[in-house]
Amino acid sequence: MKLLGAIEAGGTKFVCGVGHEDGTILDRVSFPTTTPEETMKQVFSYFEDKSVEAIGVGSFGPIDPIPGSPTYGYITTTPKPHWSNFDIVGAIKQVKDCKVGFDTDVNGAALGELRWGAAQGLDNCLYITVGTGIGAGAALGGGLIHGLSHPEMGHILVRRHPEDTYEGTCPYHGDCLEGLAAGPALVKRWGVRGGADLPPEHPAWEMEAYYLAQALMSYVLILSPQKIVMGGGVMKQSQLFPLIGSKLQTLLNGYIQHPSLQENIGDYIVPPGLGDNAGLAGALALAELALRS
Ligand code: ADP
Ligand code: ZN
Repeated sequence: MKLLGAIEAGGTKFVCGVGHEDGTILDRVSFPTTTPEETMKQVFSYFEDKSVEAIGVGSFGPIDPIPGSPTYGYITTTPKPHWSNFDIVGAIKQVKDCKVGFDTDVNGAALGELRWGAAQGLDNCLYITVGTGIGAGAALGGGLIHGLSHPEMGHILVRRHPEDTYEGTCPYHGDCLEGLAAGPALVKRWGVRGGADLPPEHPAWEMEAYYLAQALMSYVLILSPQKIVMGGGVMKQSQLFPLIGSKLQTLLNGYIQHPSLQENIGDYIVPPGLGDNAGLAGALALAELALRS
């Protein structure tokens, strides 16, 4: 079997690994994301003695994943210091003579879950992360969704919860979905150190589900995915899954007639089948896609 490389490029940490086309991960390392120079030096030293046939990069964004675009392969307008307009694919190609697959971390994770995880055997799925930010990727129609750039499903607008007076954290939109429902919004609204400090019966979770169910409603109406996989730190609160499922059913109000939504909602909205490997396996799936294309 061929050896493939995977880079999960996160805003907080980078995870690098190698694996096979069947999704097996053989080895992994992780280090904090500092400056591009410092971080990429560690990436290169990891891959130096590994003869990989392709490397997949699942990156924090925004990025330019459109081949042929002048800034293809760049992390573009990120507010993360030092990383805006960084040509990550170009940097890798300078030291490694192999194919490079490049997409958002969540598009990668959606592809990984479709090939080897919770959506295995289906034709399509949606992957959503609820962590420091909210992002979603879609593996649909045999590929990943691109257009002008990549989808930014975390920034959609939602109706406010009647009891929520928090202004929202998004520097661009204030109270978009990410501004109201990502981890930092939970922390600031409820005055805790981390989302994990809020007990399962805290009203925060009903409000969180209220926002996330609205987002899922829009995604279901627009994309009609066969499965929705939800990961990220906030989704470690497993009580959110049934809360979101029942609120989604209420919002849809029977409009879409399908057993996945009506009888088996618990099997429709699920945690990542690849667990904490969803990000790295996603990058591996991007390498495998690059190899085939
Ligand atoms: P990132 O998005 O940076 O990759 P995470 O997915 O771990 O990282 O998300 C971090 C966010 O998730 C933080 O805002 C944190 O408060 C929140 N979080 C982490 N663990 C939990 C938990 N067990 N329950 C609720 N919130 C959590
Ligand atoms: Zn926003």
